[in-house]
Amino acid sequence: MLCVVEALVDLPTPIRDNYGLMPAGTELVIYLVLTPFVSVFIYGVYLRIKSYGGIDAIKFLTNFRMIDYSSFLRNVLLQIKMVKELYSGFMHVAIMYGTIVLFIGTLLIFIEHDILRFFGIKMLMGNFYLIYELLLDLFGLLFIIGLVLAINRRIGFSRLKRLRKKNEYTAILAGLLFIGLTGFILEGLRLLISDVYWSKFSFVGWLISEFFRDVGFEKSLAHSTYQIIWWIHALTVFSLVASIPYTTLIHSFLAAINASQARVKEPGTYLPTTPFRLTELSDTDLEVKIGYKRIAELSPIQKLAIDSCTDCGRCEEACPATASGTPLSPSNLIQKLRLELRRSPLENLFEAGILGMNEVYACTTCGACVYSCPASINPLEYLIEARRSLVSEGKLERQIIRLLTNLSRMKNPFGLSRVTKENVIKELRSLGAKTLDEYPEAEYLYWLGCMALFDERIRKVAKSLIKIMIKCGVSFAILGTDEVCTGDPARRVGEEGRYQELAYHNLEILKRFPNKTILTHCPHCYNIFKNEYRDLGVELRVIHHTELLAMLVTSGKLKPPTNGAKLTLHDSCYLARYNKIINEPRTALSGTNLLEMKHHGMDTFCCGGGGGNYWYKVKRIERESVLRIKEAIQAGAEVLVVECPYCLAMLEDAAKSTENKIRVLDIAEVFEND
Ligand code: SF4
Ligand code: SF4
Repeated sequence: MLCVVEALVDLPTPIRDNYGLMPAGTELVIYLVLTPFVSVFIYGVYLRIKSYGGIDAIKFLTNFRMIDYSSFLRNVLLQIKMVKELYSGFMHVAIMYGTIVLFIGTLLIFIEHDILRFFGIKMLMGNFYLIYELLLDLFGLLFIIGLVLAINRRIGFSRLKRLRKKNEYTAILAGLLFIGLTGFILEGLRLLISDVYWSKFSFVGWLISEFFRDVGFEKSLAHSTYQIIWWIHALTVFSLVASIPYTTLIHSFLAAINASQARVKEPGTYLPTTPFRLTELSDTDLEVKIGYKRIAELSPIQKLAIDSCTDCGRCEEACPATASGTPLSPSNLIQKLRLELRRSPLENLFEAGILGMNEVYACTTCGACVYSCPASINPLEYLIEARRSLVSEGKLERQIIRLLTNLSRMKNPFGLSRVTKENVIKELRSLGAKTLDEYPEAEYLYWLGCMALFDERIRKVAKSLIKIMIKCGVSFAILGTDEVCTGDPARRVGEEGRYQELAYHNLEILKRFPNKTILTHCPHCYNIFKNEYRDLGVELRVIHHTELLAMLVTSGKLKPPTNGAKLTLHDSCYLARYNKIINEPRTALSGTNLLEMKHHGMDTFCCGGGGGNYWYKVKRIERESVLRIKEAIQAGAEVLVVECPYCLAMLEDAAKSTENKIRVLDIAEVFEND
């Protein structure tokens, strides 16, 4: 088409006539009209930056070292999380790229008319101008399609339950659609009046101009109509731009900033911060306060992140605590915090009833909300930090106090004595397991974990694994009675100090056996050893038993079960989402009759036992574990295979409450039971 145009050498060069249809002096008047809108916008930006922490926020926003460019590419430019859902993905990409291209188009007009013109330079002409027109129409059309789809999702036929009806959102979408439509109408009128030979490059505007021509729209009427719509269009654009810092429109910028942070590199994970190291605290520091009870106590990025929430409800849809009827909804939580950020950041959130203890402690720390949030907001972070604040003020439920007391006195969550542990170690040694003192050259240190040490049912898992390892000639040893809790339950309920006491205790013992790989069947022990002890200055090599079983099966030392039973695998949140261990258990079970549930892999659904929830009860309508068992039954499974002691305890208990009988086994037991 371009060649055809170039061939028509006698025809005038295509050129953009910026204000040609408007009365003389419009370009000056428009600046006068624009001034109050820009002032409102700048004041709004000032308010936002002030609410994020003023100078601290500016320092943060200008610290480009915090940006992770691969996160920027994945989460912002490619919208990876959004496109997982085809409808919303297309809708969002269409609106986003439509806006960007239309903005660049308008910017080019501004540069040409208000800067280059004074140097006698014309940019929007010739082939460049024709491509410009073509692209603007293409992306303008996409923009409109995206908006129609968005309105349909909010209030139309395909309305999503998870999207709350809010006048603000509807008004913004309607405003944007109005801008898109009036933009095309203006183009149609302009082409009708100017009747240029290149008009088909603006294919949408050309179709509209043809329509106007067909209905007999007079050119003189078109001219005055153009001028009226031009002003309405411009005023709507100015109003929406001015409203950006005050409305949810700001999410376009904040979500991009938040989703580009290095800290969101691994979606689905949340590693609590280490606000102090016990070993470095002096006596006067012992009262150190952590967490937050007021919005003002959050960091600039934490404030900015909650302000980027669009209330899309994806986190709520994924949240097992919401599904089971607890008072927790991650989207509600973030929206409440967002409102407080704008309204009253100094208010005590607990005293004002904005945050509730049951709500904060209902979270299983499963990470589903973090994984699903397209803006890379981490509701889990706000819950753990709120727990830390409750702990530091001593405002705790009796069950949690008991858990922490047990951890403090007996160094295990059960509160059981060393004698119990001695008996268990004897029992395991009778199966052939040696302690590290007896077998210091062992390759693996098999970390039993409190559940296997103190719960008879979970001990069967340890026994199965020990038998498998002995049969396959794996070089391993156990620690013996020196083993104490890793501190995971303390850290998850918000007791950082107690966690570190236990962690330092373990690290002292582990120092005696350097170069050992820790083997554990507990994803919580695995995660804390691998990812969280690091903040205390130690890197540990850790392997989960699903990884070991996969290696044994792959090497041919262990045969996958062959009894033909219909199995389904419940991915543990702390393995799948936190540590991306998804293929290994499936490799171990290769050749079995493995059925997948609706929620699996990174999309797994929590059993309800994580985040310390195993150790206390928050009222629920239907337990997460029961919902999960129902899903396994729906998948047609006879055996639900798990890879975590908490999952085993929770799901086995839930299985008793269902009519369809389904067995729950740890993956090691599946090999043993074959
Ligand atoms: S936190 Fe994220 S997923 Fe949840 S409502 Fe807000 S934007 Fe959506
Ligand atoms: S971590 Fe899991 S339980 Fe906690 S709010 Fe997020 S989705 Fe809900």
